[in-house]
Parts: sequence; structure tokens; C-alpha cells
Amino acid sequence: MHCVWCHMKIIPEVEWHTFFFPEKPRKLCQKCETGLEKIDSIACEMCGRPSTKDEENPTICSDCTRWQQDPSWEDILVFNRSVYHYNPLLQEMITKWKYRGDYHICQSFEEAVEAAFKQYFVKTHPDAILVPIPLSAERLQERAFNQARVLADLLPYQSANALKRIHGEKQAKKTRQERIASVNPFVLEAPIKKNVILIDDIYTTGTTLRHAAKVLKQQGCPKVCSFTLAR
Ligand SMILES: [Zn+2]
Ligand SMILES: [Zn+2]
Repeated sequence: MHCVWCHMKIIPEVEWHTFFFPEKPRKLCQKCETGLEKIDSIACEMCGRPSTKDEENPTICSDCTRWQQDPSWEDILVFNRSVYHYNPLLQEMITKWKYRGDYHICQSFEEAVEAAFKQYFVKTHPDAILVPIPLSAERLQERAFNQARVLADLLPYQSANALKRIHGEKQAKKTRQERIASVNPFVLEAPIKKNVILIDDIYTTGTTLRHAAKVLKQQGCPKVCSFTLAR
């Protein structure tokens, strides 16, 4: 076995317990595995913002407070959890994965994605529907796959391609105000009357996810949460 990321040879440890209870073959070497930092301590109950130090109890961060105080965005997206800190290693991995089409890189995330989803959603949202954030048709053609769709496929829930993206993805260059005020890039293809968990690769400002949540809520979806690979 070689590390999916750095291609170093992985030498499996054979001890008495792995001999009798073989573990799943590891996808990453020890070094890359520790380079990816799982989010294990949360500062904001709502958006899942990781805490930098040992904050006593998670509260609601100033960003989420700002969304909640705006009547047109209040309770649109009520809960987000993410798997990893968006550190330079993960940033590089995501870039190679989604822009350069190295689809096998996704194997590096599988186990952690499954475990985090189980931890945060399986008990509390047993019958939600997954909705991956779509790419626009042009972008999908360029990249050949949608990374959010790939993530959704790793999870043990039913998913629906309920959204369509009609505008470009160039949100990054806009200011916060511009992004929020911009036309909603999503249209809903079919209303969903059950709770929804949106799936995406990165939670940055939460604007994209909120735009998606808004069209779902406007057409009768009772509650929208989100789950992302990075935060
Ligand atoms: Zn490695
Ligand atoms: Zn927050």
C-alpha cells in the first residue's frame, strides 16, 4: 500500500490484535494522517466553528449572531458541522482533488467523513435527506465531477439532486455584502418536505449554503443543516 497523497509506502503494523482483527487498510501514511486536523472542539454551537483554545462552552459566534439578527436570514441554516480544519495541507488536497480531477484523493477523507457524520447527524437527524451543493452546468463539464456529490455518496443517507445552480461560482472575489446581496444562484427543482442536510466541501462564510437553504425553506422544507469537509 502507498499513501494516496504523498505516495510513501505504508508498512502495516502487525501486532496480535491486528492479526486477529485486521484493520481497514490505511489510505494515508502516518505523516499525512496527522497533517489533517480533525475538528474536535467547537466554539460555535451553530456553525461548528472550531475553537482555538479551550473555550468553556460553545456559544453562538458573532457571524451567526449577525445572520440571526437579519430577518431575511434568520433560521435559514440552523446547524453546520465540518470534518477538518481548512489548513494548508487540506487546501492543497482539495485543490488537486476538485480542480485537477485526482478523484482518488477522496479516499483520504472517507473514514473521517463517515465518522463525523455519524457523530453529528445520525442520532439527531435520523430521516433527513442529503442535498449536495451543485456546480453550474459549465463548471461540471470542466471538472467532470461534483465534489459535493462525491461526499454525499460516502454517507449512509438517501440523497437528492434537488438544486440547480444557474450562476457562476466566482463568489470568492466579492465582499460579504456583495455576496449576500447577490442574486441567489440556486433554483429548486423539486420541493423537499423533510429535513435536509446540505453537503459541500468547504464552509467559508456560509453564504453559499444559506442561499441553497433559502430556496429549500421557501418551498416548505422544515429545517436545513449542513455538513462540509472543511471549515
Ligand atoms: Zn503520505
Ligand atoms: Zn457560528
